[in-house]
Amino acid sequence: DERLRRVRDRVRSFPDFPVPGVLFRDISPLLKDPVAFRTLIDLLEDHVRASFPKIDFIVGLDSRGFLIGPPLAQRLGIGFVPIRKKGKLPGPTESVSYALEYGKAELEIQTDAVEPGQKVVIVDDLLATGGTMCAAYELLKRLKAEILECLVVIELKPLKGLEKLSSIPFYSLLQYD
Ligand code: 5GP
Repeated sequence: DERLRRVRDRVRSFPDFPVPGVLFRDISPLLKDPVAFRTLIDLLEDHVRASFPKIDFIVGLDSRGFLIGPPLAQRLGIGFVPIRKKGKLPGPTESVSYALEYGKAELEIQTDAVEPGQKVVIVDDLLATGGTMCAAYELLKRLKAEILECLVVIELKPLKGLEKLSSIPFYSLLQYD
């Protein structure tokens, strides 16, 4: 597909970032190219509209999920909810700690962000080990949201994040070996 190629052409790779042995996929060129970035949001919008008749919120993950989630939510005419790293959100929060591809972290959501039964799609730039996405899924489960799908631009296949997500509905636009 021509549109997928246009997006993939704007992802570049950096070996040994942020630590030795990690091949980092950088989406900065994608954000910098307005045609490619629009194409990305077009593709995500098409996928989500074709899959789900009704969604209440796009939930985006700190921090690159904040670059992709809000433009997608605007296209769909729905709201955006952030999941942030520990200590950034005011008021009552739910939190969960998790293991990263490199390191360890804690994610939080505001307790009143989503009502029980509301339908959400969780968005991030990339799935590596799946730890971040699983933590986000856990937070939304605690709020009793209905999680329609976990959606990423890039899936790093060899890290087997999909196995960690097991039965959670998942979609990736681009897959890397
Ligand atoms: P995971 O928890 O699946 O191991 O890692 C995914 C999270 O780490 C995502 O929030 C993503 O933004 C970030 N991440 C890990 N590796 C990469 C990478 O190669 N490129 C980018 N852009 N983000 C990465």
